[in-house]
Amino acid sequence: MRLIILGAPGAGKGTQAVNLAKNYNVPHISTGDIFRSNIKEGTELGKKAKEYIDKGLLVPDDVTIGIVEDRLSQSDCSKGFILDGFPRTIEQAQKLDSMLENMEVKLDKVLNIHVPDSEIVKRMSGRRVCPACGMSFHTEYKPTQQENICDSCKANVIQREDDKEETVLQRLKTYHNQTVPLIEYYGQKGSLVTVEGKEKIEDTTRDVIKALGEV
Ligand SMILES: [Zn+2]
Repeated sequence: MRLIILGAPGAGKGTQAVNLAKNYNVPHISTGDIFRSNIKEGTELGKKAKEYIDKGLLVPDDVTIGIVEDRLSQSDCSKGFILDGFPRTIEQAQKLDSMLENMEVKLDKVLNIHVPDSEIVKRMSGRRVCPACGMSFHTEYKPTQQENICDSCKANVIQREDDKEETVLQRLKTYHNQTVPLIEYYGQKGSLVTVEGKEKIEDTTRDVIKALGEV
């Protein structure tokens, strides 16, 4: 299975990618994870990427494309991969097309996990985390037993900057601007499969495997 996975921030794309990689027994390639681990290890690539990420900018295409090309050419990708976080733009999609052509492999499908914006805002803005022990909660789906107090260590839970409604709306706007053309691009190529992202992770995984099996 050679698959690209698309979805808005908060649509559960990363979790689905992990589940699908396990199901199809192929590596999960997340460009975000690759950047994070390189930054942590202080590699040249990590230093380069950090400059952009710290400023809230996208890492430039040549850096990202180099990483993806390098990763896809490793032997564990010979039977397939789940690509998560790349491509984000038409330009990157075209680069990926020629990369795969050079490797003489073909993409099987592009999976789009669709969740309405209002639902994403509801899911993300309700998230709370404990800064002391890292336990996560949700005001609606997994509330703390005592209001705003961590069940485990009794510290005050907080809402991360990334989960605040205005931040979520801004990220969704960026996502739509970049990704709608990408969805059209793959739609025209006939490789797009859209699945509704449900509240329960395992429901979505089941629907995705069914949808990918039928195509
Ligand atoms: Zn805690």
